[in-house]
Amino acid sequence: MFGRRSKNHRQFASVTLPIGLGVTAGGLTIALLVGWTLILARNEPLQSTSLLVLGIVSYIVVIGALAALSWLVVRQMREVSRQDSFIDSVTHELKSPLASIRLALETLERPQLKPEQREQLRVMMLGDVDRLSSFIDDVLEASRILHGRKSHLIQDVPIAVVARECMAAVAKRRTIPEGSVVMTMPESLQAHTDPTALSTMLRNLIDNAVKYSKPEAVHVAVNAEAYGAQVAITVRDQGIGIPRSQLGRVSERFFRVPSEAVRSRPGTGIGLFVVKALAQSLGGRLVVDSEGEGFGTTVRVWLPRGDDERQ
Ligand code: ADP
Repeated sequence: MFGRRSKNHRQFASVTLPIGLGVTAGGLTIALLVGWTLILARNEPLQSTSLLVLGIVSYIVVIGALAALSWLVVRQMREVSRQDSFIDSVTHELKSPLASIRLALETLERPQLKPEQREQLRVMMLGDVDRLSSFIDDVLEASRILHGRKSHLIQDVPIAVVARECMAAVAKRRTIPEGSVVMTMPESLQAHTDPTALSTMLRNLIDNAVKYSKPEAVHVAVNAEAYGAQVAITVRDQGIGIPRSQLGRVSERFFRVPSEAVRSRPGTGIGLFVVKALAQSLGGRLVVDSEGEGFGTTVRVWLPRGDDERQ
């Protein structure tokens, strides 16, 4: 109910501005046209300076309104194209684990299967279910954030404990060699934050770092350091990197860097959007950096530091 009301409100707000701009520009253009026509028809010399200033200001407002309208149209077109590619990615994200589960279930029907083969299929299906459920969690989280329905349970959270859990979950899901993801941080370091949100953020960042690395060379470092009343949690990889021109856009909803290296990997473009929104709602921020394509990526989340462990 609340979600629908806020969605309607957003839709209303998103059409009010372009309509308002269009009406203003249209009204002023008509007023200018009528005014100038009357002056020309009467063949009067333009004596009033205030009338002249009013005409020039109106003209500038019309040009400004048209420029703003064009910008809104471009923004809307970008959003539509991002939504199209999101729908393609969602279809893929839902269909591929389902197809894999179906195949595993059909294989399980074979009576001659050995117990270890059954176990292998069971683990495979569990992995697919995990992949589906973390994807659904991300979509729901994005929807909660967008509808302003996100509430947090703030407490002092040991970062190392959460980071270790997330690293284990990603390693299980992506089946990477041991030691591919390395963690360095004081065990005592705490963030003053929501543990579930911290876990969602770290899982997303570590998963991205592994996913966007070359499969034969996954080297991911997870660090956390204290800076006064804040902690910086950093996930650094040596993967495909991000073109510097796209750095500002990667945390936009549904945005994926338009490159073959990214397209060939599954994804929907909501992970970093969720991480950024969560970090901001927890009084922190997200910073994404890369030296460019092929030079790896460094993603840093700043959060308030936990009180208990402060020296
Ligand atoms: P996706 O589901 O596509 O991974 P995200 O929101 O997590 O969505 O990331 C948005 C985009 O940012 C990705 O599609 C990718 O282009 C880029 N990106 C994110 N993390 C990394 C990384 N560690 N290395 C390279 N590119 C990344």
